[in-house]
Amino acid sequence: MQRAYADSLSDTVKRDPYSVVVSEVMLQQTQVNTVLKYYDNWMRLFPTFDALAKAPLEKVLKAWQGMGYYTRARNLKKLAQAVMKERHGELPRDVEDLDALPGIGKYSARSIASLAFDVPVACVDGNIVRVISRLLGIDKPFKSSSAAMPEFQENADQLLNQKHPALHNEAMMEFGALVCTKANPSCASCPMKGLCRGHALRIAEKLPRFEPRKTEEKIVRRAWIYDGDKILLQQSHPGRSAATGNLYGLWELPTLEALGVRRPGKELLRKHRGITKYKITEIIHRVGTGQAASGGKRLRWIGKRKLAQIPLSGPHGKWIRELLDH
Ligand code: SF4
Repeated sequence: MQRAYADSLSDTVKRDPYSVVVSEVMLQQTQVNTVLKYYDNWMRLFPTFDALAKAPLEKVLKAWQGMGYYTRARNLKKLAQAVMKERHGELPRDVEDLDALPGIGKYSARSIASLAFDVPVACVDGNIVRVISRLLGIDKPFKSSSAAMPEFQENADQLLNQKHPALHNEAMMEFGALVCTKANPSCASCPMKGLCRGHALRIAEKLPRFEPRKTEEKIVRRAWIYDGDKILLQQSHPGRSAATGNLYGLWELPTLEALGVRRPGKELLRKHRGITKYKITEIIHRVGTGQAASGGKRLRWIGKRKLAQIPLSGPHGKWIRELLDH
């Protein structure tokens, strides 16, 4: 965990298995400063595995709204349900048992086992990949940080302090987050400078190297159907979000395709965004209230005042506000 995170959570909280799981999953694809804005509210709403397991999915997604990669929120809920049903509410300590639970991968399982239970296993996350690749001067291209992790596990295992695994792993992550940073690492004051091959070769800042990412372009056309008070929205299906397929359960502006609209009205907004490998152009058209031929049960008229109560993806929330202010 990074210092801001460590400073913000007490030792008691850090060692509580449920809070370790929540922070670990939140930090997987979100910066620590953003996580800090969500963590306390999440713990207030869902303080235990039991509370999360029983919470309605819409409420869970609402609490996650704006952090992106919503699969994590759904998996956390599935994980809580599995812990309650199969583990009598207790998180297992064993890495393989943790790995078998929904939403916990091999690397998260190691982090959770170490940070929650002080199990002597070395963690490898993006920060640690960076630190080790620089220390050892590993100058070869990887597809991504997660694709590189298996190659660094052995080195991380050799470095592990067996007596204080949680402290060691936390220190490694903090070192990567605060000293051996992605850009402008603090090499001049770094205590590892004399041992660092990347620094000696003057290539530290270029490591780890990643292959250029292949991107796919997509155009998504959406409808703005507004009667002066209510907006027609559609809830994403599993795997059917028009943009990336990972937003199911969230409400969004319906696509023309889903509504069967062939002749939309004026273009009102054009937005560009990137999600994983996709470069998406979202075009929002005005559509008359009587024009939507289909869309099924997942369509709902939502009053302007109710918007704050439903889970909307971050960009959709911004577009709707922009269109309402238009
Ligand atoms: S000398 Fe620089 S690159 Fe090497 S470990 Fe220290 S901060 Fe990282």
